[in-house]
Amino acid sequence: MTLLALENCDVFYDKAQALHKVSLGVEANEVVSLIGRNGAGKSTILKTLIGLNRAASGRRLWKGDDVTALRADQLGRLGIAYVPEDRRIFPNLSVEENLRIATLMGRQGGWNLARVYDLFPVLRERSAQPGDTLSGGEQQRVALARALVSRPGVLLLDEPMSALDAKLKKSLQAELKKLHRELGTSFVLVTHDLEEAMMLADKICVMRAGRVVQTGTPTEIYYRPANMFVAGFIGETNFLSVDVGAGS
Ligand code: ATP
Repeated sequence: MTLLALENCDVFYDKAQALHKVSLGVEANEVVSLIGRNGAGKSTILKTLIGLNRAASGRRLWKGDDVTALRADQLGRLGIAYVPEDRRIFPNLSVEENLRIATLMGRQGGWNLARVYDLFPVLRERSAQPGDTLSGGEQQRVALARALVSRPGVLLLDEPMSALDAKLKKSLQAELKKLHRELGTSFVLVTHDLEEAMMLADKICVMRAGRVVQTGTPTEIYYRPANMFVAGFIGETNFLSVDVGAGS
């Protein structure tokens, strides 16, 4: 079942077009990864999915219903959560206070603190520590936990590992995979890291200059790239010119 989708969306910043006829579907229990070079439009897709950007044309759908007109602050009750790249946890509040605010503001049927701590044991250990004294990985976990307390159907994550060192990245990637298995939440994950996309995603969406150039499973993208751009982006490549003639 398709939970969240964009259909033929054009998005502009002033007169500059950032997305061109972008379509994308997020199925239940699926991890979708958006990859592409700087400025390709990955964050703009997330912001359009959550309603922070308005599409000039095209539609946004939630379980098949047209929710194009709904604002970002109205999407929470549908079950869509978003962690922006800068994470935005309250620096002067403790881990527990940061989490408590999220549990109070969350949807009915969301998690209580005990459940959050069961999923993120490191946060239990740090519960009294102020946000700005946490490591990057711990802050990322607080941001993730805050987004997950209301048990969203879809969680949008903008480069969740970008500020982490290689070791921390690996452990958080493994944790994300485990969370996905346990919770069944669909993730849309923006990343520059191809290995991360290959490891976590069921579906990869390759972006170039505001357009989706290929969507497919990691295997499809890797073994059957749609064009030379995708082939070059995905792997070490040698391009050979050949003449194609009629077979004998
Ligand atoms: P990165 O990997 O560098 O984060 P991205 O693929 O997420 O890039 P976007 O941030 O979606 O790309 O940006 C797409 C295009 O829109 C870029 O050309 C960018 O300069 C432009 N853009 C993004 N946000 C704004 C804004 N608020 N105002 C004007 N232009 C913007």
